[in-house]
Amino acid sequence: MKLTPALLPQLIEVIADVIEKNAEEVTALDQAIGDGDHVINLQRGINALMLQRQELSQLDWVAAFQKIGMTLMSAVGGASGSLYGTLFIALSKAAREQSLDQQGFADIFSHGVEAVKQRGKAVAGEKTMLDVFIPVADYLRTAAENSVMLPDVLTKVSQVAIKGMESTRDMLATKGRASFLEERSRGHIDAGAKTGQLMICAIVDVLTKQLASPA
Ligand code: ADP
Ligand code: MG
Repeated sequence: MKLTPALLPQLIEVIADVIEKNAEEVTALDQAIGDGDHVINLQRGINALMLQRQELSQLDWVAAFQKIGMTLMSAVGGASGSLYGTLFIALSKAAREQSLDQQGFADIFSHGVEAVKQRGKAVAGEKTMLDVFIPVADYLRTAAENSVMLPDVLTKVSQVAIKGMESTRDMLATKGRASFLEERSRGHIDAGAKTGQLMICAIVDVLTKQLASPA
């Protein structure tokens, strides 16, 4: 499968779709332990990317990731804006050094997640989007090292993302607004972990279909 930015319009569309379909559920999660604006924040970024999607599809990965990062940084409010902005700008930087094959993507994604950890001063287990991103990055690296076949990698990535999202339910929030609730933050899934998982699963679905019948 050749992974080029020509796929970006389709990826942005499925992401817009999955966030819209789950807007109520995610908003309820952010209302329970945050301030309820997470979906609105994300949708500001997604709408901005929808307007740029054709332009993005003409770029190479380095330029496309950079543009996505800058757009998210300025369009998305809240903690998630700067974190997603940071993620894509780091992906762009890492994509300068490596090509986006299976091994390369695993390394590039890990660099992005590392940058988010630094930016948010957060680690695994703090009840954030990182509890989805870190296990996915770890799995991608392990899969690349063991030359796991791509269809199997994709299936497993979705499973790892869902497990990571679910794992936030019983965690104590120690970063972001949810941390203000201390023990009362337990018992609710983190909104950012949920949207991270939904977006990863939506991307996986597109790639799985692409793999089955290349356009
Ligand atoms: P805000 O918290 O500013 O209202 P959002 O509601 O858009 O911003 O995003 C909240 C999400 O951001 C949380 O659910 C969590 O997943 C993530 N988050 C918050 N702080 C951090 C952090 N320091 N590191 C990683 N992720 C974080
Ligand atoms: Mg919020």
